[in-house]
Amino acid sequence: MIEFINVTKHYPGRHHVLRELNLKLPTGQMALLTGPSGAGKSTLLKLLLRLEDVSHGTLMVNGVDVSTLKKRHIPAYRRRIGVVFQDHKLLMDRDVFSNVALTLQVSGVNAKQIQSRVRAALEKVGLGNRIHNMPATLSGGEQQRVGIARAIVHTPEILLADEPTGNLDGSLSTEILDMFRDFHQHGTTVLVATHDQAQVERLGLPVFHLEQGMLQNSQEKSA
Ligand code: ADP
Ligand code: ADP
Repeated sequence: MIEFINVTKHYPGRHHVLRELNLKLPTGQMALLTGPSGAGKSTLLKLLLRLEDVSHGTLMVNGVDVSTLKKRHIPAYRRRIGVVFQDHKLLMDRDVFSNVALTLQVSGVNAKQIQSRVRAALEKVGLGNRIHNMPATLSGGEQQRVGIARAIVHTPEILLADEPTGNLDGSLSTEILDMFRDFHQHGTTVLVATHDQAQVERLGLPVFHLEQGMLQNSQEKSA
């Protein structure tokens, strides 16, 4: 369960980027986070990752009070989450395998386990035959799928994505978002920031809509 309780965020010298936000996403559910540029979507995701601190209020994630989490506990907390960015942030000087393996290597997983889990993750995103390619030799959609494999290789409880289809055309966006929905159907809690209205309508998932740091009528639609 992800729960924002009266969460306010301001950056130094700036007024509220998020204002007294209340939001609940039960474990295993998937929702979309929408709103115009500057509404606070990235900030909300950064709070969840503890890349930014909550200014006021409480943020609970699967029993962890993220708003007061001690610095030394942040790395272990972050390993429970997978994250996908718009620009995928792949290391371009390393092959697909190395990019996906990295998360497991920092967690101290042994080499044999890494081999099989990286393979399994790449197969899940349909890139089992690209394991030794360099990212630059892949299409934009394939690069984003490597980003997704990297985010799910450590089987996170929660999957977050910030405009994962922002650089992709319609059919690729469908493919990527369906992949997220598939992880959700296998039990992962998923929150995806997007301003792709066509996909929002197509997916029919619950929507949290932000405007100027405030949540508007969040429409509960059944999947
Ligand atoms: P969105 O993801 O919806 O486009 P953001 O969360 O990126 O919105 O930004 C919300 C507001 O906070 C914007 O006005 C943005 O300029 C501001 N902002 C984001 N990050 C910072 C930061 N590190 N310092 C100051 N202002 C920031
Ligand atoms: P992201 O890749 O998460 O979308 P952005 O491109 O929004 O990041 O921002 C890049 C960096 O600049 C981040 O550290 C963000 O917090 C910061 N930032 C974004 N908007 C502002 C702003 N208006 N003032 C200061 N820093 C900002």
